[in-house]
Amino acid sequence: MATKKKKKEKDVDEYTIYDLPGVGESTAEKLIEAGFDTLESIATASVYELKELVGLTESQALKIITAAREMLKMGFLTGIEVLERRSNIKRITTGSKNLDKLLGGGIETQAITEFAGEFGSGKTQICHQLSVNVQLPEDKGGLGKGAIYIDTENTFRPERIIQMAKALGLDERKTLENIVYARAYSSDQQMLLVDKVKEIIRSKNIGLIIIDSLTSLFRAEYIGRGALAERQQKLNRHLHSLQKIAETYNIAVVVTNQVVAKPDAIFGDLSVPIGGHIVGHTCTYRVFLRKAKGGKRIARMMDAPHLPEGEVVFSITNEGIRD
Ligand code: ADP
Ligand code: MG
Repeated sequence: MATKKKKKEKDVDEYTIYDLPGVGESTAEKLIEAGFDTLESIATASVYELKELVGLTESQALKIITAAREMLKMGFLTGIEVLERRSNIKRITTGSKNLDKLLGGGIETQAITEFAGEFGSGKTQICHQLSVNVQLPEDKGGLGKGAIYIDTENTFRPERIIQMAKALGLDERKTLENIVYARAYSSDQQMLLVDKVKEIIRSKNIGLIIIDSLTSLFRAEYIGRGALAERQQKLNRHLHSLQKIAETYNIAVVVTNQVVAKPDAIFGDLSVPIGGHIVGHTCTYRVFLRKAKGGKRIARMMDAPHLPEGEVVFSITNEGIRD
């Protein structure tokens, strides 16, 4: 009897339509030609569509739709599986009890949290603090894991990390070693880095991904009305791959965003985050930061699915983010 070759477990993202049962070169070509070039498109197709548009038999169509759904895992879950996955959600403390409360207990894994605010409002300081705090043990508000820090504005400062680590009694060298840093110079490179992140997550124990800032490169590169649609499309793709990573690996994703003057503001807020609805809708939590008197900062929660909107005060001290 032939020994069964054990198929190496692939990661969710490594499957392509060529991995589907009975799909060889010619079927793949037909699928691609009909627009079914991704597992997602097949997983969400109907048997009828694949019969009519690709020319598959009913049993072939059913077989590959089922297989695509299984390979994607993520896309189709039962209610119990969703419940199980959500029970794995963990939180990272920001260092400020007030800010943690606003966030429902801290920064959540399996979610994207956006910090939006004007220059100097504390976005980068929060990013630094979180990349330290994620390393704390769970009973101290961390995950006991490292961070990936994607920096688009060249504002990451290891010296500041050392200050924050010292204040928490952490070993400064180890703390720095557990932060994997990359500088992005273009939006394409920023997106590419996120693709590469999966390899790092597998080899290192990562609990947090930071992108500071999410939008600055996109904003600088896509100028004018004509470029807006393309920019939004790319941002959308970028955010969705971040969301997928957050869910697949039970990781927290934190992004920062600048605000710009609202062109049509008459009442209410005079500034809005960049990226418009795409960013606003894809990020799970959106927190606005602004400066207040005496070096304090005010954070306001917007658009949270199950948290009340509210405002809290926190401060940036030499030790880091505090109440
Ligand atoms: P943003 O990223 O939103 O532009 P930052 O996070 O860089 O803003 O915040 C910068 C502010 O943080 C500074 O203006 C200062 O008020 C505060 N800050 C930075 N470092 C320290 C420190 N060591 N001690 C106290 N406050 C600091
Ligand atoms: Mg900054």
